[in-house]
Amino acid sequence: MKLRTLVFPVLLSVSLLVSSCQRSNEPLRGNTYLLGTVLNVAVHDGGYREELIDRVFERVAEIEARMSTSTTDYETTELLAVNRAAGANPVSVSADTYAVLQEALHFSRLTNGAFDVTIWPLVTLWGIGTDSARVPDRVEIDDARRLIDYSALELLPGREVRLPLAGMGVDVGAIAKGYAADEASRILREAGVEHALLDFGGNILLLGSKPDGSPWRIGVQRPDGERSSFIGVLTLADQSVVTSGPYERFFEQDGVRYHHILDSATGYPAENGLSQVTIVAARSMVADALSTACYVLGLEEGRALVESLPEAEAIFVTEDRVVHLTEGIGDRFELTDPAYRLE
Ligand code: ADP
Ligand code: MG
Repeated sequence: MKLRTLVFPVLLSVSLLVSSCQRSNEPLRGNTYLLGTVLNVAVHDGGYREELIDRVFERVAEIEARMSTSTTDYETTELLAVNRAAGANPVSVSADTYAVLQEALHFSRLTNGAFDVTIWPLVTLWGIGTDSARVPDRVEIDDARRLIDYSALELLPGREVRLPLAGMGVDVGAIAKGYAADEASRILREAGVEHALLDFGGNILLLGSKPDGSPWRIGVQRPDGERSSFIGVLTLADQSVVTSGPYERFFEQDGVRYHHILDSATGYPAENGLSQVTIVAARSMVADALSTACYVLGLEEGRALVESLPEAEAIFVTEDRVVHLTEGIGDRFELTDPAYRLE
């Protein structure tokens, strides 16, 4: 008697648990819109509940609310506060924001400003991706360029941030998605997940291998922006794959296309014969920063930079449809589109 009353609730709770978990072999999936793009998370281990995916998206929303510089999405954020206080007082920020600014400053130095964390005056001037996108005139561009100088960004003790001149501003749009993916991956890992695939608007992060122990096969986007077709396949585990190209966000004026990766040296969208750059690195933030930087640097300088970094590999696609690989990636990349050729 005693046993029966005990067994029944146990069985009931087990069946409730099973019904709210994913069905066997089906990955647990979730998607949402954040960071200006669609985020997809697929957890391939069994036994996890949707709650875990909710926690991941809540964390990404928190990062966005701290670091966005969009005045249409937010009245204020930590970075909007930093930018508004430029030329005046330091602003204290969260550990998240401080860490991302430190990394962004590191990559600004490493790339001599091809990646520049203080690119904000140019980003707002062009407004690419907003309703007010337009081609600025030369005087406006030169005025904005004078305000771009990563070496002037002050990251002070006690997580205080200051910009010395009014009109200066920081923008982490080229690195925040990578940081968010790394954080998402950390949350999953700490929950015990061993196999998952995160796709943050084309920024891929692979947690572990596929559940059967084999590596994932990840398509490398085609530069014409056709998301569903690929130029080739990367075979990888435990890595992030991030691509930067001119097709992600752009507008057209008088038949000319202007895209969202800006070269602070010219004040215009970067143009140097590249169709896109894909970076492979264990940390998504590193891949994100380097893909933007290499798109600005171009093939020669970009490749030299990545070859000098043991933690990253790169796939450059030039406008003549040639694919250029760094040394360490050749055995993990297979070209599949006959319209392209390997260098
Ligand atoms: P996506 O946002 O398409 O993934 P990126 O990671 O290349 O692409 O980031 C582009 C964003 O980075 C721009 O929208 C802008 O906010 C910012 N940005 C543009 N040019 C630069 C640059 N030279 N250095 C640092 N950040 C940049
Ligand atoms: Mg980037």
